[in-house]
Amino acid sequence: MTIAFISHPDCALHEMGAGHPECPQRLAAIEDQLLASRMELALCHLEAPLASRDQLCLAHDSDYVDLIFHSAPREGYVRLDSDTLMNPHSLAAARRAAGAVILGVDTVMVGKTRQAFCSVRPPGHHAERRRAMGFCIFNNVAVGAAHAMCQHGLQRVAIVDFDVHHGNGTEDIFADDPRVLFCSSFQHPFYPYSGTEADSAQMIHTPLRAGSGGAAFRQAVEEQWLPRLEAFAPQLIMISAGFDAHAEGPHRLHPGRRLCACGTGTQCRGSPRRPAGQRMTRQVFTPYPRCRHNTPNQ
Ligand SMILES: [Zn+2]
Repeated sequence: MTIAFISHPDCALHEMGAGHPECPQRLAAIEDQLLASRMELALCHLEAPLASRDQLCLAHDSDYVDLIFHSAPREGYVRLDSDTLMNPHSLAAARRAAGAVILGVDTVMVGKTRQAFCSVRPPGHHAERRRAMGFCIFNNVAVGAAHAMCQHGLQRVAIVDFDVHHGNGTEDIFADDPRVLFCSSFQHPFYPYSGTEADSAQMIHTPLRAGSGGAAFRQAVEEQWLPRLEAFAPQLIMISAGFDAHAEGPHRLHPGRRLCACGTGTQCRGSPRRPAGQRMTRQVFTPYPRCRHNTPNQ
C-alpha cells in the first residue's frame, strides 16, 4: 500500500515568534516519527501546490481571503487574532497547506493512491468562514472537502476530527451542508468552548472530560460515530488529526490512546460498509501536529 505524503518547505517558514507553541518543529516531529517507524518505505512524496484564491473561496468568504492575501507583511508580524500571526512566509505556507489537501483529494480521487497524508502547517480546523482563529488561517480540510464536492462531484464527504479542541471552524463552514458529516471529539470544557449545541444533525459532537482514557474514547467512537458513518456511507473520509491529546503530548486527553503520527494508527476503519477483504474508502489525512516542545492551547 502506498500513501501519498504531501508537504512543502514553505510550511516550515511560517512562524509566529519565539516561544509560540505552533512551531515549525511540529513538522520535524512528524518526519522523525516516520523515519523511526519505517513508514517512509510506504510513502510517495508529493509537493503541495499553492491553493488559488478561487479554491480558498470554496470554503471562505472572498472578502476574508482577500484580507489574508493583503495582510501578509514584508517583514515582522501581523496579528490576525490573539494567538494567530502572519510573518512574510505565512501566506505561502497557508496556501500550501490548503493546496496539499486539494492535491490529496485529487490523488485519491483519480486512484493514484488510496490514502494521502498532508504534513502541513499552519493548521486549519479553528479557521471559520470569515475569520482566522487558534493558530489557523485557512481551514485546510474544509477547502479540500469543498474541492472534492465541487470538482469531483462528491455528495457525501465525512470529516473525522480528533483533537483536544473542538473543530469549530470546520463546523462553522459546513453546519448547513447536508453533503458533509462532521464527527468531532474534544475535551470539554476547553478552548474554544464550543461544540455542545447541536444545531445540525450532521454535526456529531463528542465532548470528553479531561483525563478521559482510551476506553472512553473508543466507546464514544463506536457508539456515536460508527453508526452515523455507516448510515452516511461516505464517498471520501477526511481525517482532521490533532495530536495534542496524544499519550505523549501536552494534554493527554486520552492517555490510553496511541495515536500514530502518520494517522494510520487511529481508529478510522475506512468505509463502515467495507466488507472484509475489500479496499478501504478513500482517505485524506490532514494532521494538526502536536508540538514536541511547549504546551499549546490549540
Ligand atoms: Zn488542538
